[in-house]
Amino acid sequence: MTALRVADLTALASVLQQSGGRIDYIAGGTDLIIERQGSPWANLIVDISQTVGLDRIEADAGFLRIGAGVTIARLIEDPLIGQTAPMLARAAAQFGSAQIRNRATLGGNIAGAMPAADLLPVLKCHAVKVEIQRRSGVREVLDFDAVVLGRGQTCLGNGDLILAVHLPLAEATGRISAFVKLGPRQAVTIACLNLAALADYGMASNRLRDIRIVAGALAPVPLRMDAVEAALRDRPVNQALVEDFLHALGQAVDSAIPGRASQPLQTAGHPWPRP
Ligand SMILES: Cc1cc2nc3c(=O)[nH]c(=O)nc-3n(C[C@H](O)[C@H](O)[C@H](O)COP(=O)(O)OP(=O)(O)OC[C@H]3O[C@@H](n4cnc5c(N)ncnc54)[C@H](O)[C@@H]3O)c2cc1C
Repeated sequence: MTALRVADLTALASVLQQSGGRIDYIAGGTDLIIERQGSPWANLIVDISQTVGLDRIEADAGFLRIGAGVTIARLIEDPLIGQTAPMLARAAAQFGSAQIRNRATLGGNIAGAMPAADLLPVLKCHAVKVEIQRRSGVREVLDFDAVVLGRGQTCLGNGDLILAVHLPLAEATGRISAFVKLGPRQAVTIACLNLAALADYGMASNRLRDIRIVAGALAPVPLRMDAVEAALRDRPVNQALVEDFLHALGQAVDSAIPGRASQPLQTAGHPWPRP
């Protein structure tokens, strides 16, 4: 087994040219090291944790470009993220422990594609695009939904690298947003449900428009909550709206996971009343 660290993308390109076999990229290593305890490592391990160019956060033409190597800790602290995508900073703040946040990366969270991953609902809610460099060197910019395909499944082939996420600025600017994570513990917990929400709030009309709500940990991939959005759309924000929101959310969760153990029984003698 060979392990090496690449300083930049040019160095990576020459490594890829010379190697034909399987590669394990390692960024923070917080998922990979655990994963490889039960399965063999590739012959070539490429450490991308200090690869220049993967660690940048910069405003580009109409979007915020967030490098795949940006750590979770940086998502919390970075002023550009705080101004344009505070929901991402909030999700990062509820992510793992301080040690994990210092190592774990945005790219690793996407490539791992775990249903309970905290950043994925936020990325889908922001309708991000994902910039990928194929092993051949070809670059592509794909919709989030074309990248994260299922539990642990992505469009990435072996040796393909996530370079960055493109977060559209026009759709983020001036909007209100929220991120909520429910888990069995208050901290360092795996989400049973995480919710990302983005909306236009008209102060004068006291109404929500252009609402996007995405739930994680309910399905193999983050789920857009159409019925919950409909329950909120273009209605005055008041207590009745809050109650309708909670009702619609409860129904959406129940129908997404009808057999969950904590669901109240509705029909005597029939354990799973909903289809
Ligand atoms: C104690 C603990 C707590 C955790 N808490 C949370 C939590 O609260 N929320 C949460 O969402 N997750 C959590 N995780 C999971 C993990 O930290 C995240 O999924 C993290 O984002 C993975 O990033 P990484 O850089 O460590 O990835 P790595 O472990 O380095 O890599 C994971 C996989 O992604 C691939 N990869 C990494 N970067 C790239 C890239 N740029 N391009 C292509 N492939 C790439 C690797 O080859 C590997 O297959 C936790 C893990 C632990 C151990």
